[in-house]
Amino acid sequence: MKVLIVEDEPAIAGALRRGLEGEGMAVDVMADGVDGLWAATENQYDAIVLDLMLPGISGRDVLVGLRERGVWTPVLVLTAREGNEVEIGVFDRGADDFLAKPFSFDILLARLRALVRRGAPERPVVLSIGDLRLEPARRRVDRGGSEITLTPREYGVLELLMRRGGDVVTKSEILNNVWDSAFEGDPNVVEVYISYLRRKVDTPFGRRSITTVRGMGYRVVAED
Ligand code: CA
Repeated sequence: MKVLIVEDEPAIAGALRRGLEGEGMAVDVMADGVDGLWAATENQYDAIVLDLMLPGISGRDVLVGLRERGVWTPVLVLTAREGNEVEIGVFDRGADDFLAKPFSFDILLARLRALVRRGAPERPVVLSIGDLRLEPARRRVDRGGSEITLTPREYGVLELLMRRGGDVVTKSEILNNVWDSAFEGDPNVVEVYISYLRRKVDTPFGRRSITTVRGMGYRVVAED
């Protein structure tokens, strides 16, 4: 069994290498995101242990890059940050498991073995509402198979709406999630982006799936 560790903290990377080699595994270590993405694309591994906070490119971008290149090696993400938000984010981008630091080596080993037994996933996570589909790992959106090109901001708004699976999302939630916290412009920018989205996602297909819930916010509904 061959494992790639992408981790910039030498103490953690060294301990992992010694521990996994002690279990009879072959181990490569890369200390930044660029080298990690390269190694994971060029070589065959049974599993990848990927830190999120890396120099070069982030672990999240390594994950997106791998899945975009069609590399489906199981990935166990390590992060110092805890919380649902991070967890959901990395799973959407194609991580297979998630472990918050500090962790015990035995737990990591057990999770890694479980991942390898399960094998590589066959396809990415897809969010869908009716015939509207969004693949977070590839940042790809289509309606009934016709690809829709969105700007990063439009994509961010749609992803948030679709993640809620048809529940109402308030204007301030959209602002907080899609615009950075320093944004002090007009909150009506959300309405503007909702109208851009409708022009791309609904109008050309004769749909009205992005609906305004007066006084509350917006949601995406499936139409028959
Ligand atoms: Ca790190």
